[in-house]
Amino acid sequence: MSESIARLRFAPSPTGLLHIGGLRTALYNYLLARQLGGAFVLRIEDTDQKRFVEGAEADIFRSLQWAGISIDEGPQEGGPHGPYRQSERRDVYREHAEMLVAKGAAYYAFDTEEEIELMRARYREAGIESAGYGVRTRGEMRNSLTLPVDEVESLLSQEVPHVVRLKVPAGRTVQLSDLIRGDVSFESDVIDDQVLMKSDGLPTYHLAVVVDDHLMNITHVVRGEDWLSSTPKHLLLYEAFGWTAPKMAHLPLILSPSGGKLSKRNAEKMGIPVTVRQYVEAGYEPDALVNFLALLGWHPADDRELFSMDDLIRAFDINRVGLAGVQFDLDKLNWFNQQHLRSLTDSELASLGRPFVEEKGYEVSDAALESVAALLKERITFARELADVTYLFADPAAFDAKGVKKRWSIEAAERLTWLEAHLSSLSNEQWTASTIHDEAEKALLARDVPLGKVMPVFRLALTGETSGPELFPLIEYLGRDTVVRRLRNAPALIGTSPE
Ligand code: GLU
Repeated sequence: MSESIARLRFAPSPTGLLHIGGLRTALYNYLLARQLGGAFVLRIEDTDQKRFVEGAEADIFRSLQWAGISIDEGPQEGGPHGPYRQSERRDVYREHAEMLVAKGAAYYAFDTEEEIELMRARYREAGIESAGYGVRTRGEMRNSLTLPVDEVESLLSQEVPHVVRLKVPAGRTVQLSDLIRGDVSFESDVIDDQVLMKSDGLPTYHLAVVVDDHLMNITHVVRGEDWLSSTPKHLLLYEAFGWTAPKMAHLPLILSPSGGKLSKRNAEKMGIPVTVRQYVEAGYEPDALVNFLALLGWHPADDRELFSMDDLIRAFDINRVGLAGVQFDLDKLNWFNQQHLRSLTDSELASLGRPFVEEKGYEVSDAALESVAALLKERITFARELADVTYLFADPAAFDAKGVKKRWSIEAAERLTWLEAHLSSLSNEQWTASTIHDEAEKALLARDVPLGKVMPVFRLALTGETSGPELFPLIEYLGRDTVVRRLRNAPALIGTSPE
């Protein structure tokens, strides 16, 4: 018999903008799905009406698309196992809850909040803190295990508010063989009789997730470590239904740089963006963020760090995901963004930078912007920085004061006039970085001045600054007319004209 086709899912709840940890979960599921030649399913877990946030679902779609994570089946794509929004599957859950009741694996419970609180108070008095509704206490409560059949039927027919609870078996050890954590076991006696259907007729996450993962033929569940404690309930549910549970993997937590869970609050305090939207707005490139997130928990077999999505699909190994929480490092992400920009062609980088250049009102041809990209590629972290070096688009209006103090003199100004005279005579064919360099050197050597001595003031006059991209490629980019003009204007602008 052939192995069943791998099917993985990302199952976010639309309770707010997609969190960076959610994107990592989506990514790991996606990588595994693609690697195994299987399907990647998006399921929206929106049964908790109280936590529903308008626009959150659209943000999930947009964020995944931005990151290059393509969905095979989902609310927008459709597919053979839909609907893919849990709020559209209510009947499925009700039906399955009834199946469990019929099998004796679940039961109706009619207790009010007050009655449950009274039970807890009784136990507290007897010295037992936080007694749950479960193996030990269910026999004292108002449910279909304790009430006569006809009473249960009449309560149900009168539509008295009730929930459906899982009847957790007593004295069992529930075993999980986690792809990352290895064998983990849980004692059933400490697990509450989980509510499966709420009194509003909607399922809880626990019922819905198990029913859907089964009906959608999910083969691997990869999710955050915070769900590990729910897993025994899910395993008991699979068992109650008589289904085989999918393989499971619980990803390590993402920790703040100062230790502790990277909560929204402490991330914000440290200036770390939390939502995918914030990363997009901050100007991170999707490929860089994906590369960074892939390594936030997964350790490749070699010490390679730079991966494209296709590389990741080939190299990713769920067995090499660590157990320990991983510290979030924004500097590292910035490094990935830098590296990613360096891997682009000049024209790709120019297109990324173009909207920012236009936003500042500069008019630049594609060819010129490609030269800007080439000049700055090794020096920037974000594509928007292409628009930040204003002297590449307009003559400098101000000159670095320290530079002026250190470099400017009548003598320096005079040397610039020699350069200007010589460079203005160069032909278009001669206007290349290396020829300009040689000619500048020649012009100065004729007067016994080494080029190196003049370079700093040359840069200052052309750019207003004391550092920047390589000088001669920069001069080539500026063009002869601009260079001559700037050299001519510099003395007046700087304020000390040569005598
Ligand atoms: N809806 C859950 C969440 O918001 C899904 C957890 C799971 O993957 O089972 O993360």
